Amino acid sequence: MYDLHTHSICSDGILRPQAVVSRAKEKGVTTLALTDHDSIDGLGEAALAADELGVNLVTGVEVSCLWSGVGVHVVGLNFDADNSVLTAGLERQQSARARRSEIISERLEKLGISGALEGARRFAGEGSIGRPHFAKYLVEQGEVASVSAAFKRYLGAGKPGDVKQMWPAVAEAVHWIRSAGGTAVLAHPDKYKMTRTKLRCLLRDFCDAGGQAMEVISGCQEPSITRELAQLSEKYQLYASCGSDFHSPEQAWQDLGCMAPLPDDCVPVWESW
Ligand code: AMP
Ligand code: MN
Ligand code: MN
Ligand code: MN
Repeated sequence: MYDLHTHSICSDGILRPQAVVSRAKEKGVTTLALTDHDSIDGLGEAALAADELGVNLVTGVEVSCLWSGVGVHVVGLNFDADNSVLTAGLERQQSARARRSEIISERLEKLGISGALEGARRFAGEGSIGRPHFAKYLVEQGEVASVSAAFKRYLGAGKPGDVKQMWPAVAEAVHWIRSAGGTAVLAHPDKYKMTRTKLRCLLRDFCDAGGQAMEVISGCQEPSITRELAQLSEKYQLYASCGSDFHSPEQAWQDLGCMAPLPDDCVPVWESW
């Protein structure tokens, strides 16, 4: 079983890379990609664990992008992790994340919430800082009852903490990934809440930029969504990928290897490798 979209403490996941690999093994995953947000820092540790446990590890990363005012994610798979175009791009993403965290914190400060930068940094630890770490701080401070409430009120699309002007264009992320010999995959197309017209426009741009695949399966999703995405992958001649988008064992709807298989009429992304 393939799971090609997962997170560790190197971004907003809660398990160490080696623990992601061993949980994947337990859950029956045979080929795994660790795809932390804008970071490949966990790949070394994951590779050691994968060797030990006999899991096939594919290099991975999930790049934050901006397309037509919407924050979208491009997953890179099966690339050379030493490629300098890619590593320079990801270094830029890390500085952008640091700057962005200061802006988010200032915006929360204006809403009367202080100490958010330090708080979020504490939750991020050594990993790349993101909105989920701010969400945990907001919960800790009693500003909201849950992480999802934090997104609804402060951090989600259109809210003050939704800062994304620093992200590169989709074409740029595709360029970094392809320069490193990797496959560029449009992540979870259904999660952007776009109109279908706008989604088709994104897919067209993604193809024109050299994007090669899209996620047809992302975590546990409705069969009707799977059918629709499978049709889009056929229409745009994109390979199909599948991943849990695992972050934590507590989120059962996106646990490792918990997804449905790709529909038979899809061409799996690994057939291109
Ligand atoms: P960032 O990388 O800082 O833009 O944060 C995006 C991450 O926040 C996603 O990868 C999810 O893990 C998480 N996230 C996004 N929306 C929500 C939500 N509504 N509830 C909980 N977590 C979310
Ligand atoms: Mn995430
Ligand atoms: Mn994502
Ligand atoms: Mn993800």
